[in-house]
Amino acid sequence: MTLRARLTAAFLAVVLGPVLLGAIFVGIAVSAVSQQRAKERLESGAQNVEAALAVTCQRLRLAAETTALVTADGDQPDAAQRTVQRGLARAVEVSGADGTVLTTAGVLPPKPWADCAAPAHAPFAAIAASVDVLDPSSRRIGRAYAVEPVDATLLAWLTDASGVRVDSLATDQTESESVRVAAKLDRDATGTTPGGLLVRRLEPRPDQPLTLALSVPEPDTGGLYAVLVAVVACAGVVAVSVAWWLARSTTHPLTELAQAVERVADGDLSARVPVRSQDEVGRLGQTFNRMTREMQGYVQALTASRDQLRGQLGVLGDTLAGTHDLDRILQVILQTAAAATGAQSGVVLMVDPASGELRGQVAEGLAGFDVADLRLQLGDGLLGTVAASGEPRRGRVDRDGPVLAPVEPRCITYVAVPIAAPGVGPTTGLEPQSDLPPAARGVLALYDRHGFDEFDDADLITLRTFAGQAAVAVDNVRVHEEAQRLSLTDPLTGLSNYRYLRESLRREVERASRFGRSLAALALDLDRFKEVNDTYGHAAGDAVLAEFARRLRAEIREVDFAFRQGGEEFVVLLPETDAAGAAVLAERLGAAVRRSPVLVVSSTPGQPPRRIPVTVSIGIAVFPIHGATGAAVLEAADDALYAAKAAGRDTYKIAPDVVVAVPLPGALPGALPGAQESFTGAQGPAKASTEVTPGAPKAAQPPRQSRGG
Ligand code: GH3
Ligand code: MG
Ligand code: MG
Repeated sequence: MTLRARLTAAFLAVVLGPVLLGAIFVGIAVSAVSQQRAKERLESGAQNVEAALAVTCQRLRLAAETTALVTADGDQPDAAQRTVQRGLARAVEVSGADGTVLTTAGVLPPKPWADCAAPAHAPFAAIAASVDVLDPSSRRIGRAYAVEPVDATLLAWLTDASGVRVDSLATDQTESESVRVAAKLDRDATGTTPGGLLVRRLEPRPDQPLTLALSVPEPDTGGLYAVLVAVVACAGVVAVSVAWWLARSTTHPLTELAQAVERVADGDLSARVPVRSQDEVGRLGQTFNRMTREMQGYVQALTASRDQLRGQLGVLGDTLAGTHDLDRILQVILQTAAAATGAQSGVVLMVDPASGELRGQVAEGLAGFDVADLRLQLGDGLLGTVAASGEPRRGRVDRDGPVLAPVEPRCITYVAVPIAAPGVGPTTGLEPQSDLPPAARGVLALYDRHGFDEFDDADLITLRTFAGQAAVAVDNVRVHEEAQRLSLTDPLTGLSNYRYLRESLRREVERASRFGRSLAALALDLDRFKEVNDTYGHAAGDAVLAEFARRLRAEIREVDFAFRQGGEEFVVLLPETDAAGAAVLAERLGAAVRRSPVLVVSSTPGQPPRRIPVTVSIGIAVFPIHGATGAAVLEAADDALYAAKAAGRDTYKIAPDVVVAVPLPGALPGALPGAQESFTGAQGPAKASTEVTPGAPKAAQPPRQSRGG
């Protein structure tokens, strides 16, 4: 049964019940009142009839007395006739003392007559009053009767006089309905006829000698009942209509709401219900609309953030696959983690292996915050604590109150997880093994989720996943860097190798050429190194090479490059340096090598360390003066090196200047001011060397020989 049907039924019960009860009550009351009024009419009719008959009896008595007096006065045979003519009675009879009829007047009805003075139960055709006729001596000589026939005239007169219909039980030959009913009634009782008459039987009494049936029509309540039924029917129709309208207006919005809820349940969040009123149902509709609108907003926001996250994950995948730029990778990991958790900002810090402190690597969403300023000791502030303990933390600063270090970003809510150190996270096998407790390699922290809800455990788990990715990325980058370094580094001396020399030379020549600067190249070769090997052994030779490389590194600037070309031959590139500058370095370097012999620990236990004196010969060439390409400059430097060897070793030579169309003796570019210049012009027209001979003892120039080990 639907709500609408129930409401309709309830309304009808409430409205139609009282209407029906009221109608029944009215019907009963009206019927009772009508019955009562009919009885009262009968009652008053009876009194009127009695009064009228009493008057009639009075009149008849007077007529009889008059007739008797006149008759006794004299012999007046027309006494009766005169009484009738005077209208005192309709008929008169005078009889003698013996009962014989002496004279009559009018039409006498058949006897017996109802005697006004002696009422009796019998059918009478007339009413009569009689008196004795007395002679002067008061002797009874006869009797005078005044007679009124009980006929239609009398009954009509009585009916008129009483206001009710009057029938005589005696005379009524038509056996009317009311007479038949009255005949069966008790004295003075009332009854009803099938024809709808209320009947009363009136008994004879003095001055009312007849048995009469008084009747009035029963009150006609049929019309009233019809009206009542019509009213009830109309009320019913109206009630049904109103009930239907009420139920419909109540349940229609609910039906719409139910349909809208079904649509929402099927996933259609655009479902709305029309709001037509401000009543409870209207408010329900408004609330429903607001709820679906907000749900739609949430879903849209969720979808947008899912799409954003999807895009961000794509970027992360591309970044991880496509670059070894650690900062770029960490930036994307941070952005993705923030997008996944709804954080507004975040930072990544890595432990600097050299200093052991935490350094800000990348930051996101922190306006006016310079990540380079973010430096913390392990254990300091929130981030230092997370890094030192390796335990993630999350919460609210205002509630949990972790002490933020002054350099840490300000925030309300936070979640921070360690980026696992080797042994905790995935390992590459390349990290040095340590027995120390696993401190974190870095920290990934997010701040202030949108809406300032606290970060929950799910966020923490998400962030740990990203921290794991960061750890793997850091490892990958370090492994890559290490491999890169190994492929370009000479393992014995730690200097860059020949491969890297070629690359660097090309790059530096290009740079110098683009900016119109000079680039000096130094070719170095240890003197008589074969003898070192032969005298002290190969291992000692290696140690000398390593020590030489160390002294070399100590002498050059940070922007300079030192390479081990092979064997005991080295190359140094000096960007933005001319021949004079290169000569200064060569001078200094020669001195640094020459100054103290290399101390080499003996391989034989108990033996004191060996002191091995070493010197170096150096050739100098400058781009673009001594060659238009890197290779040409290097070759020129090599040639100058041979010149230095030939000049007795432990010295340096600058490559001879290229011959120009009009040579200007003594003013060649690249010449060292104040330096001695010597030309080996005899060896070839195209080449000349500028020799600078330091105070070192000179050996005989050896013939040019092949170099390399
Ligand atoms: P010079 O003054 O003319 O250069 O004489 P030198 O003895 O240095 O002559 P050369 O350049 O021909 O000899 C190079 C020697 O360096 C040959 C080789 O035994 C030695 N050598 C080359 N590479 C290495 C190395 O890696 N370690 C050691 N211990 N010796 C090396
Ligand atoms: Mg040598
Ligand atoms: Mg050599």
